[in-house]
Amino acid sequence: MLSDDCVFCKIIRGEIPSSKVYEDGDMLFFRDIEPKAKVHLLAVPKRHFALLSEADGEGMRILSRMLAVIPEAAEKNGCKDGFRLVVNQGEAAGQTVRHLHVHILGGEPLGW
Ligand code: 5GP
Ligand code: ZN
Repeated sequence: MLSDDCVFCKIIRGEIPSSKVYEDGDMLFFRDIEPKAKVHLLAVPKRHFALLSEADGEGMRILSRMLAVIPEAAEKNGCKDGFRLVVNQGEAAGQTVRHLHVHILGGEPLGW
């Protein structure tokens, strides 16, 4: 389910500290350590898989719930006027952490 040598699994297990903003049994949201916008949260499933194309039924169930939870969590954490979601999949997109995550960006007007 979780992986021993994955930084986001370590954050989920509490072995690496993070600034948490939302947590339930399926997912954890915390602040990105190198924010690319005034508000930059990461939404991370509590299940280790790297790519959308690797999500099984349980992974897809969690991702679906995640999309339902994101708007309220984003608004509560400073994205009053909207937000942008980003998933980097694979090398060409610059994915650096191979545990699927959704970037939530906002808190200011965003350029494209
Ligand atoms: P990716 O490029 O894989 O889509 O994004 C990975 C993100 O994770 C980056 O924005 C990076 O700043 C963030 N990140 C990497 N390591 C840590 C960490 O230990 N703590 C937190 N809060 N964010 C991290
Ligand atoms: Zn992981």
